[in-house]
Amino acid sequence: MEKIDIKSLTLPKLEKLVQEMGLPKYRAGQIFRWLHQKQVLSFAEMSDLSGELREKLAGKCYINPVSIKKKLVSALDGTVKYLYELADGNCIEAVLMEYHHGMALCISTQVGCRMGCKFCASTLGGKVRDLTPAEMLEEVYAAGRDSGKRIGSLVLMGIGEPLDNFENVMDFLEILSCPQGLNLSQRHVSLSTCGLVDQIYQLTKRKSQLTLSVSLHAPNDAIRNRSMPVNRKYPIDTLLKACRDYFTATGRRVSFEYALIAGVNDKPEHAKELAKRLQGMNAHVNLIPVNPVQETGMKRGSRESVRRFQELLASLGINATVRRELGSDISAACGQLRRQDQQGRPSILEGQK
Ligand code: SAH
Repeated sequence: MEKIDIKSLTLPKLEKLVQEMGLPKYRAGQIFRWLHQKQVLSFAEMSDLSGELREKLAGKCYINPVSIKKKLVSALDGTVKYLYELADGNCIEAVLMEYHHGMALCISTQVGCRMGCKFCASTLGGKVRDLTPAEMLEEVYAAGRDSGKRIGSLVLMGIGEPLDNFENVMDFLEILSCPQGLNLSQRHVSLSTCGLVDQIYQLTKRKSQLTLSVSLHAPNDAIRNRSMPVNRKYPIDTLLKACRDYFTATGRRVSFEYALIAGVNDKPEHAKELAKRLQGMNAHVNLIPVNPVQETGMKRGSRESVRRFQELLASLGINATVRRELGSDISAACGQLRRQDQQGRPSILEGQK
């Protein structure tokens, strides 16, 4: 029988397992605290459980290990980039950044990505597999243990499309916000998506308290179709309607990511078109000078052109900020470190020609 990944179980799921094993329900709370507060890496360390119970658990379940394979610290601003190695040898990345209000961690949700955005390094090799809740939790726990700092906020903006790994991401967030766990409120979590509309409606239905961050990157369907294949399934109007409905149902303001690519989407007419589309949405736009990725050939415009784009949006009533760049000396942009690491050895992608 296949062993159970115990750290991926939400508290209700763990309670069910414990009861199926003929144990009282309160044992689940005890085990859950060992896993998610004390963050032990073996059953042997769960010292208030009997030896017999620990053995029984070890026979039926396993605790998924994740190790720090590489750690880069920016000399410019102290940003830390972690390359984690998973039990099957795959690697993912997370970035720990210091903001005035505390530490923010950016984590990956899949090994690779299948969304195919033309400017993005994470999707170049396709998707290998989804991350489990335990693996996403361990990205957070390991960064906390290593830095000795409390992680105050989380962004799901690393490798992968979080809404393409929906149930695992939902379980991960439930465990993370559990009072018997790290107790990190979902209000301190931002989820970045390329715009999977059906899943945005699922979040709406669940009355999610997440901050939704939508990667828009284009003012019209013609440009977006070229850079983001997902737009052919969910065009901009459909996506923006889902965002408006999310805001109405949850009261959570949606923000939009817009990577400025020189000559592609950064002209004054694009700013005007974007402003018109976002009118009346109380939207916030995050402008990002595109990170040049060798394989994509896309270039960023001058600092001046970014500022002009921002000012034009502001004059048209759209609140926009330019993303502060952190860790630019350590390949902190998503997918870059994993790719560099991969290029040094044979690819571990499954099913690749
Ligand atoms: N799949 C999710 C989250 C991961 S990507 C999403 O699409 O939102 C995180 C963010 O980085 C997204 O906004 C993505 O569009 C952006 N991004 C990817 N490659 C980039 C690049 N080369 N320069 C700037 N932003 C990039």
